[in-house]
Amino acid sequence: MTNTSRSDATTKKTIEMVEVSPRDGLQNEQRAIATHDKLALIERAIASGARRIEVTSFVNPRAVPQMADAEAVCAGLPGRGDVTYIGLVMNMRGAERAIATGRIDQLGAVAVGTDTFAMKNQGQTSDGSVEACRNIIARAKDAGLTGQATIAASFGCPFEGEVEEDRVIAMATAIAEAGPVEIALADTIGVGNPAHVERLVARVREAIDPLPVRVHFHNTRGTGLANVWAAISAGASVVDASIGGLGGCPFAPGAAGNVATEDVTYMLERAGIETALDLDTLIETNRWLADVMGKDLPAMVSKAGGFPKPNISSTS
Ligand code: ZN
Repeated sequence: MTNTSRSDATTKKTIEMVEVSPRDGLQNEQRAIATHDKLALIERAIASGARRIEVTSFVNPRAVPQMADAEAVCAGLPGRGDVTYIGLVMNMRGAERAIATGRIDQLGAVAVGTDTFAMKNQGQTSDGSVEACRNIIARAKDAGLTGQATIAASFGCPFEGEVEEDRVIAMATAIAEAGPVEIALADTIGVGNPAHVERLVARVREAIDPLPVRVHFHNTRGTGLANVWAAISAGASVVDASIGGLGGCPFAPGAAGNVATEDVTYMLERAGIETALDLDTLIETNRWLADVMGKDLPAMVSKAGGFPKPNISSTS
């Protein structure tokens, strides 16, 4: 996207966007999405400017049937040296599968803030999930890849309710020792509010400095965009989003879509923050994806369109 109207390039803030629609966006969809449609989505995301994409997850296909074609998706990925392909993994078995494809650049590991959710999501305690993250990051580096970690349920747990901020900070600190490229705070069930987000992002950022903080929000209760803004204000520099606002978690009751890539892009670009994404291409992709999914997608900007372009011939 060109921003010729803004001239002060030196003070321009840039946010890195991670496109998660092929994984988080699709994993909760009941209808099986064809591998070629997933690959088309990835190609369209790249065309929109995405340079980091969560392409699939290497999990038990019985638990998450939509991700059963992880290897086939990887085999079809465009050979792009400028794009980082992320494979989500929950354990070493998943890490080995991802590495074996030879197509994944970065392993995404997941720790969970509470024991109950950690047991349901990945069959281990919260402490166990931190240890798994550290091992996965170490294995990624061994294999010549990079690793990153997401702390799920950082802002609230569907089963235990409040999650102590000190607990999240302790987890982030322990994971940071393993040398990930960044650590993400995820609002898996969309209960966060901007004040909480601003406080926790600032604290985690300080705790893991100089590692970047990434954020992952679901718009379950309408606070997604406000939370993105609060996180950036507090120093988060990487934002996960999903084209169309698709998304959900099979293990989090009532979880709704990720913040929509086009909505986040519109908000940030209009506020003078660069994303490297092209809004028109994202909106086109939304329409294509809605066709593939056979339903309307939650994103707002794709319904309304971007900022009006001057049109002197328009009436009323
Ligand atoms: Zn998510």
